[in-house]
Amino acid sequence: MLIDNHNRTINYVRLAVTDRCNLRCNYCMPAEGINFAKNDKLFTIDELSRLSEILVSQGVDKIRITGGEPFVRKDLMVLMRHLSQLEGLNDISVTTNATLIGPYIDELKELGVKNINVSMDAINRETFEKITRRDHYDTVHNNIIRLITEGFNVRINFIALEGQNTEDILPMLELTKHYKVSVRFLEEMPFNGGSKTFESIAWDYKRILAYVKERHPDYYELPSPKTSTSINYKIPGFKGTFGVIPSFSRTFCGSCNRLRISATGDVITCLYAQPSMNIRDILRGEGSTEKIKKSILKAIGSRSKTGFEAQQKYKGVFANSMTSIGG
Ligand code: SAM
Ligand code: SF4
Repeated sequence: MLIDNHNRTINYVRLAVTDRCNLRCNYCMPAEGINFAKNDKLFTIDELSRLSEILVSQGVDKIRITGGEPFVRKDLMVLMRHLSQLEGLNDISVTTNATLIGPYIDELKELGVKNINVSMDAINRETFEKITRRDHYDTVHNNIIRLITEGFNVRINFIALEGQNTEDILPMLELTKHYKVSVRFLEEMPFNGGSKTFESIAWDYKRILAYVKERHPDYYELPSPKTSTSINYKIPGFKGTFGVIPSFSRTFCGSCNRLRISATGDVITCLYAQPSMNIRDILRGEGSTEKIKKSILKAIGSRSKTGFEAQQKYKGVFANSMTSIGG
């Protein structure tokens, strides 16, 4: 069991399998001049498989594959097949931009992957292309519909960006009228590779909810697990649901059950903290399983209680990009 210094059980790992991406979402990365990690700094699939095995033996029962864009890794399915064999791993989830997932949808279903989060921050094509700085609207849209109709539990992540996509909030919500899908509105966080800094946001979860309420005054809250980062709602008569994720306001730190591991092996015990160590180095060194287990235990033994506390301890973390942290 992984239990942190605040008595929180850590059973959920977000594993970034690459820092590369085929999009350039403007809230996540600068348009150019990105310092991607050298190839030999990235985990190999064998290393990711071994690390996952160790984490699962320590009580982790949920792994979310993220990135960068996970599907830019040609060998990703080798890892997915390995994960699907791990006894005790009950939930293999993926966060993706849905540009490259098409050829793998059938196999993902066969492997028992159920939860797929897709980032789509606009329903309007032009807005989508402006935000992602790429031209993949149709592919993303079609893959989302395919994932939903194939029966995956699809959650669309939509970051509310002042001056960019807030006109799309209500049209995006309309999707939940017709499809069994969850649309989650996220607050923007200042992790964008240094392309912009900010200390406040125009669209926090309260404003998003107030805006939705003007159109749908009768929406009601749904019960959510204690460790959920989203607060979830339903509009009567709609097939799907919607939610807000107060990622900037950070209302959910108290019950945080997650650990992040970057594509280069940095162990991140809190989004707002500096990495506490590098597990890839330990894996590649003499790396006995016992040593790896101890290192993970040590990392979670000194977690900050909240993101606010972590932020006070470590300055300069905001130069990070979500593409290395994994969201
Ligand atoms: N490429 C995949 C995708 O976009 O879904 C996975 C990686 S992406 C870094 C993971 C999540 O981080 C996405 O849901 C994305 O919207 C979110 N994200 C990236 N930059 C963010 C930011 N500055 N603030 C809030 N969320 C961010
Ligand atoms: Fe790529 Fe995801 Fe970042 Fe967009 S949010 S640039 S899709 S890693």
